[in-house]
Amino acid sequence: MSMKKILIVDDSKAILAILKSEVDKYPDIDACYAQDYKSAMRLMRDNQGEFHAALLDLNLPDAPNGEIVKLANANKIPSVVLSGTVTEKTRESFANKDIIDIIVKDTPASAKFAVNAILRTLKNYDTHVLVVDDSKIYKKSITDSLHKIKLNVIEAENGEEALLKLESNPNISMVITDYEMPKMNGLDLTFKIRELYKKDQLSIIAMSTVAGQEIIAKFLRFGANDFLNKPFSHSEIVTRVNSNLELLDLFSKIKDMANKDFLTGMFNRRYFFDSGKSIFNKNKRKRKPLAVVMVDIDKFKNINDSYGHDVGDDAIKQIKVILDKNLRESDLVARFGGEEFCILLEDINIQEVQALFEKIRAEFESNAITSHGFEISYTISTGVFFGLLDSMDEMIKLSDEALYEAKITGRNKVVIKS
Ligand code: GH3
Ligand code: MG
Ligand code: MG
Ligand code: MG
Repeated sequence: MSMKKILIVDDSKAILAILKSEVDKYPDIDACYAQDYKSAMRLMRDNQGEFHAALLDLNLPDAPNGEIVKLANANKIPSVVLSGTVTEKTRESFANKDIIDIIVKDTPASAKFAVNAILRTLKNYDTHVLVVDDSKIYKKSITDSLHKIKLNVIEAENGEEALLKLESNPNISMVITDYEMPKMNGLDLTFKIRELYKKDQLSIIAMSTVAGQEIIAKFLRFGANDFLNKPFSHSEIVTRVNSNLELLDLFSKIKDMANKDFLTGMFNRRYFFDSGKSIFNKNKRKRKPLAVVMVDIDKFKNINDSYGHDVGDDAIKQIKVILDKNLRESDLVARFGGEEFCILLEDINIQEVQALFEKIRAEFESNAITSHGFEISYTISTGVFFGLLDSMDEMIKLSDEALYEAKITGRNKVVIKS
């Protein structure tokens, strides 16, 4: 998620503190806090158009009747409302307002619920949905609902147009499609989409009229994630869309857990082999050489022994920072083990590899990081294999041998085998 700004208003210091501790878990959220209507108003004025969402206490000492919600609405800030009690009447009075959710402050978990509701909306700012319907009226009403929850909407009138839009907008996460449409109907569209994207990559919500109930089963068999009977209410579509987007996020979190290293967020060894294999096969077909690079921190045990494990962890994280800064998007980087990293580079020649890793080596040599009050610096040894062998394993083995040579001949150097 890109950086987002939110406003949190509650007159209770204790509740503000709880909300703050929840919000602080997310480094991409920048939160402003206020305890009364007047200061909230000042914050909105000073940050005009900058708040992506707000968490608002319904009853404030200087605005006891929910005036803050109207103010946020006037400033077009989508809001989660926190209230001591919520009557049906309160709900009704907010029915046509730009409210994400109304949450009762009755359990310690309320703060978590509230922040979760905000989080979904913040993510929606970066999320793209394709709406496919030949009915202009339906398309408009769905688009209006999705805009209210801050999603980006792309529209298409039939399945054929939808496929073109999908191709030109690879960042689309969800398709909401009607059934009966000219040129290509929703069922054929679903079938075609599933040839390209799996259910955990792109979510499909199908819509049909009640009269076409049997079509629902067909949609699900063809790979739709969910369905909606037409006509539906604003809250029905918004709830379905948000919960299906939430599922997509969950899938990607699970994929990350399997493929990424917890400490650094870098890819792990398993992912390196999976993904590296296809890079290897592609270059093997074209008979193009690759560079396999092994990087290992020098005398890393000393850092752990002298400053503690937490400082050692920070030193490991620094590897990611410097590698990310110097490598290309297409380079495959992974944490292989403790303080050992492996990189696979394509479309590069031996001189370029030499120059690149010499530059990185020098950067570590002159770099110092501050961690837990200590200033520490360390060097790295680098072993490179450049060329093309029968298997990735053999190439990794040779880069390991190059690394070993770098270690026994003095460390803080790059050794290349080809
Ligand atoms: P050399 O220059 O020969 O590479 O010496 P070294 O001390 O860096 O190498 P060695 O492989 O003997 O030690 C690596 C140490 O890294 C041992 C292990 O305790 C530590 N280590 C492994 N994983 C982690 C980690 O996630 N965090 C921290 N802080 N230390 C780790
Ligand atoms: Mg239709
Ligand atoms: Mg080491
Ligand atoms: Mg090691």
